[in-house]
Amino acid sequence: MTMQQQLNSWVAKYPLLENIVSLKPVVWLNPKLQKKNDMSGLPVSFADMKEAELLWQRFAPYLAAEFPETAAAKGIVESPLREISGMKQQLNDHYDAKIEGKLFLKCDNELPIAGSIKARGGVYEVLHHAEKLAIDAGMLTTEQSYEQFSSDGFKHFFSRYSIGVGSTGNLGLSIGIISAKLGFQVSVYMSSDAKQWKKDLLREKGATVVEFEGDFSEAIWAGRETTLAKSDAYFVDDEKSKHLFLGYSVAAFRLKQQLDDADIPVDANHPLFVYLPCGVGGAPGGIAFGLKQVLGDAVHCFFVEPTHSPAVLIGLMTGEKEKLSVQDFGIDNVTEGDGLAVGRPSSFASGISEKTVSGIYTIEDQELFKLLTLLADSEAIFVEPSATAGLLGPLRIKASSYAETNQIPMATATHIGWSTGGALVPEEEMDGFYHRGKTYLGG
Ligand SMILES: *Cc1c(COP(=O)(O)O)cnc(C)c1O
Repeated sequence: MTMQQQLNSWVAKYPLLENIVSLKPVVWLNPKLQKKNDMSGLPVSFADMKEAELLWQRFAPYLAAEFPETAAAKGIVESPLREISGMKQQLNDHYDAKIEGKLFLKCDNELPIAGSIKARGGVYEVLHHAEKLAIDAGMLTTEQSYEQFSSDGFKHFFSRYSIGVGSTGNLGLSIGIISAKLGFQVSVYMSSDAKQWKKDLLREKGATVVEFEGDFSEAIWAGRETTLAKSDAYFVDDEKSKHLFLGYSVAAFRLKQQLDDADIPVDANHPLFVYLPCGVGGAPGGIAFGLKQVLGDAVHCFFVEPTHSPAVLIGLMTGEKEKLSVQDFGIDNVTEGDGLAVGRPSSFASGISEKTVSGIYTIEDQELFKLLTLLADSEAIFVEPSATAGLLGPLRIKASSYAETNQIPMATATHIGWSTGGALVPEEEMDGFYHRGKTYLGG
């Protein structure tokens, strides 16, 4: 079969592909979604999540000392959960809708260290690697104080090792910042669409930035080849990392605590809907996996991708996962959503998400800017464009058959839009985003 015949046969099998290929916003509901108790044979477990949480706790004294913005939380890297009823009103007004239940924002745009969701996965993976090196070298046991990581001796030790990562931006920022702080030699391989301010910030923090013509997958490829050619080098592989995934998954324990603290029940009569912006699928996949483990079947996770980068959608819908790219379907993978411009999904995360994700919807770039401006006007919260993608979730899922088919009561639902980044965006850039949104809103 030629590629064209192959594509035609997929379109025949999955009619939604026609709209996907013509870049129309779509909602896809996952026919392979499994109940928590039916999920077996996954390459990660609840026990792995608990171990990951313990690693974060061991490093907390170090993080509190090295990153003063984490000191108040005693070195625990976490973001607030905020109810955004003003935004709910704005959404209802602007989209002529009636959202049932409450709307919250999970503010990973405020996460310390990296200012984005990558502070979960990226920082975790580097800490995990550093701990292993130190233990293997006989410098540390897990019972000792991790404040030692601030010492000159440890920094000198890590300076013999290098770390590499390929990134469109935010992952590079998180890996670059934490690696340089620990004393590693760190190189960030960036694709051509990476923002100048991200490159500047990384260089200022002590990372080496290697600019690479081409898209995200090519940057990863180049980074992997160059890094692995060196001895004593470690490559953070966004396309297949278990550690990134586990770092993200820990968010579920924290969110459960926040829901408990706010007296928000999650059960069959009080469903929880979580809308997660999706690039390679590691961050949303790790969080969805964690939430299913911790909160069970009353949590319904949806991913969101730009209409121009529906990589995980195509991968899960066809079941081909990382074997297909959006470019195979003639889709250009060009979007203003930093972190979402991904043409091919993570192989590791996709195999898990195909069981945990309720569905995926796609969103046009214009909507990202509109939502950014609506959120700023109603709540005075400023996030980056990709971080807003989840806010259309309550409307998009309501318009689908999901609640009816699964007999889910919506009046008592809690909706969480996962805001994935923004804190480090320079004010000038943010002004530009805001005004673009204003223009699209017609104001
Ligand atoms: C990386 C990123 C995502 C998505 O994470 P993936 O692991 O690539 O799916 C979403 N939003 C922002 C702002 C990001 O930087």
